[in-house]
Amino acid sequence: MRYSQILLPTLKENPAEAEVISHRLMLRAGFIRKLTSGVYSYLPLGLAAIRKVEQIVREEMNRAGAQELALPIVQPADLWKETGRYEKYGPELLRFRDRHDRESCLGPTHEEVITDLVRREIHSYRELPLNLYQIQTKFRDEIRPRFGLMRGREFIMKDAYSFDVSDAMAEVAYKKMHEAYKRIFTRCGLEFRAVEADSGTIGGSFSHEFMVLAKTGEDTIVVCKECDYAANLEKAAIRSPAADSSLAGMQPMLKVETPGKRKVDAVCEFLKIVASKLVKTLVYLADGQPVAVLVRGDREVQEVKLKNLLGATDVELADDKQVFDATGVPTGYLGPVGIAIRVVADQEIAGMRNFVVGANEKNHHLTQVNMGRDFTVEAVADLRKVTPDDPCPCCGGPLALTEGIEVGHIFKLGTKYSEAMQAVFQDSDGGEKPFVMGCYGIGITRVVAAAIEQNHDQHGIIFPVPLAPFQAIILNLDCKDEAITRAAEEAYGSLQALGVETLLDDRDERPGSKFKDADLLGIPFRLMIGKRFSKDGLVEIRRRRDGFMEEVSLGDLPGILQARIAAEISG
Ligand code: ATP
Ligand code: MG
Repeated sequence: MRYSQILLPTLKENPAEAEVISHRLMLRAGFIRKLTSGVYSYLPLGLAAIRKVEQIVREEMNRAGAQELALPIVQPADLWKETGRYEKYGPELLRFRDRHDRESCLGPTHEEVITDLVRREIHSYRELPLNLYQIQTKFRDEIRPRFGLMRGREFIMKDAYSFDVSDAMAEVAYKKMHEAYKRIFTRCGLEFRAVEADSGTIGGSFSHEFMVLAKTGEDTIVVCKECDYAANLEKAAIRSPAADSSLAGMQPMLKVETPGKRKVDAVCEFLKIVASKLVKTLVYLADGQPVAVLVRGDREVQEVKLKNLLGATDVELADDKQVFDATGVPTGYLGPVGIAIRVVADQEIAGMRNFVVGANEKNHHLTQVNMGRDFTVEAVADLRKVTPDDPCPCCGGPLALTEGIEVGHIFKLGTKYSEAMQAVFQDSDGGEKPFVMGCYGIGITRVVAAAIEQNHDQHGIIFPVPLAPFQAIILNLDCKDEAITRAAEEAYGSLQALGVETLLDDRDERPGSKFKDADLLGIPFRLMIGKRFSKDGLVEIRRRRDGFMEEVSLGDLPGILQARIAAEISG
């Protein structure tokens, strides 16, 4: 491609609307342009990077035995009503009526459509297993589209769906996808972790999110510094603490006055204790029903863990009025002793002795309280948020919290959709069974943004070679000089003949601005043909990643460059 002919509108200034690096750089490098909120046009170079990701994904999905198809974006509401998701999905599902007044929606995901196809076409266990995927535009009417391609309303996703005869076979399919995803993100040249994610009511480790590690990630993940353990913050398990037998024996419970002291800090200061000697009682509404949750004073409740323990679809912290209505006690003085509602406790409480709680009476707290003796709870479980001071639940090693960008998500669905939609097959014993399903997504456009978040410097993008729109850019540093121009054309021709994806900067611009643009675009190798060539016949090669420079003759250029590119891809 010739720079003079390609649509590549780079910007010198930082666009004001872009908050994160990838968004800023993609606008500045002329990769994308916004059409309307969360909806972008992909310009030639942006599209080239997107296609690179798609191709890697396609090759690895095919290698794993999945088949590509394409499903419609416009979908009838009736299908979504079968699974109850037409109502449940919320406003992210863009609903509309067509000219015949038929309710329709734009596909944010395709479980319903694929399950409908499979229930019509597949009837026997002999036709299974099956894994079908597509790479396609999705629409989600996100409440806060932001950060450019990171969270758009319209974006490209690879979504795959597996159909199996049994749970055991579905697990095999899941593991295959897990492996394929590892290959995909490794081939993309990205630093990533597969983390256990919350799989809600399904349970088990049958949901993993693939996270590209980058400082601007929206998700916090917990990784072990010593073993492979990695988990979503919401899911990160905490080792159950051994009861500390060295703790003093139980003292008699006392009621003390704590006038106006409602907050943990105020109570602790007043009673001259540390927050780890106090137990907080928080009231949550689990699907509308009040439940008291006990955690140590310096800990926070992990709502997802609570939700899973209670088997609730929704939990939220009750407000002061709801707390008072449920317990008759003003917020700040609640405690588990004699409370009128269900109580569950974080496992840490079981190892505590003689702690402080609210007395269920205004301006009073109880001290020297002990679980088991003074109150009982319905369940004891891991209910709190992990902290960097907790040990790894696998090996006991130190944990670290890091930021990640979710680029992929694999999920064992079981029979949730097949049962709801009566998608069944005849098994080898003649019986009818619902398909056991899995679903597997990759945010293609988000991968490009994440790659840039992970790989850039103050001058611009630093594409990993496998994702770069071009592998090399030739800078003709003096278009008026015939010998230089001839050499640039010759280099361009010979690189193209070798299959090296090359952009020739043939614009009549100053060298300085060509350097700037080449750095901004993040093309891995910059080949400079200018004064050095006139003098000694040498072309300078500069590697974008680390500034590594070498000078080669025009004749040696193609071979050397090809070797350098190959080294970047395999390494
Ligand atoms: P998120 O938690 O980021 O909203 P999600 O859990 O809703 O994502 P999935 O339904 O698992 O996403 O979709 C599969 C993949 O599609 C995600 O891992 C992500 O990479 C990508 N994706 C989801 N929503 C968007 C979006 N609004 N813009 C770009 N990519 C997205
Ligand atoms: Mg997800």
